[in-house]
Amino acid sequence: MAILIIEDEPNVVSVIKRGLNEYGFETSVATNGLTGLQMATEHQFDLIILDVMLPGMDGIQVCQHIRKNNTQVPILMLTALDSTENIVTGLDSGADDYMVKPFKIMELAARLRTLLRRRNGDQSVKNVHRIADIEVDTDAKTVTRNHTPLSLTPTEYRLLEYFIKNQKKVLSRIQILESVWDIDFNLGTNVVDVYVNYLRKKLDKDNINRYIHTIFGMGYMMKDTEQHENSK
Ligand code: CA
Repeated sequence: MAILIIEDEPNVVSVIKRGLNEYGFETSVATNGLTGLQMATEHQFDLIILDVMLPGMDGIQVCQHIRKNNTQVPILMLTALDSTENIVTGLDSGADDYMVKPFKIMELAARLRTLLRRRNGDQSVKNVHRIADIEVDTDAKTVTRNHTPLSLTPTEYRLLEYFIKNQKKVLSRIQILESVWDIDFNLGTNVVDVYVNYLRKKLDKDNINRYIHTIFGMGYMMKDTEQHENSK
């Protein structure tokens, strides 16, 4: 994890740098606002620690400028002034969190981890679909179960993507065939049953909880039984 520290006080810089390195973060330092802004613009950091009181361009302005081009990178502001106004201005300018100096490195590291987790969470909200511990990333076309990659054939993947996007809906074999196989010739709906079985074997392996349910006379439905046991 690459962290940019924008801070002009040498003592604070060295404490943060040493501390974060011990926690396994890589650190880069800028000792004034303009250099910091330049570095933040030219390089990709996972997180930025930004002091409010800086020579030249202050932290609030730096933050506003960074946010014009980069809405993703988490920014944690450092302030020596424990005044509400300062904190509010910082957060208004686009910072995600703040810490009041002096602070313990342990606390800082914990805050950074929270911000990094939150950022990763936010990114995944967009195009990741879930059922129980299975996650399908429809951008990367990858599937994981409990964070371990699951290997599917392209057809199995498309079938799973269709199911997971249509959870708790009864899907007829014809619907599935048309959506997943995209065909204009008649394959016959048996192929759906065959691939549902392939997918079931991969998804339900070592798992008593089944996700793809046969709805007799109608088709299939994907749902997490753990959640719906009571409504049966
Ligand atoms: Ca300062």
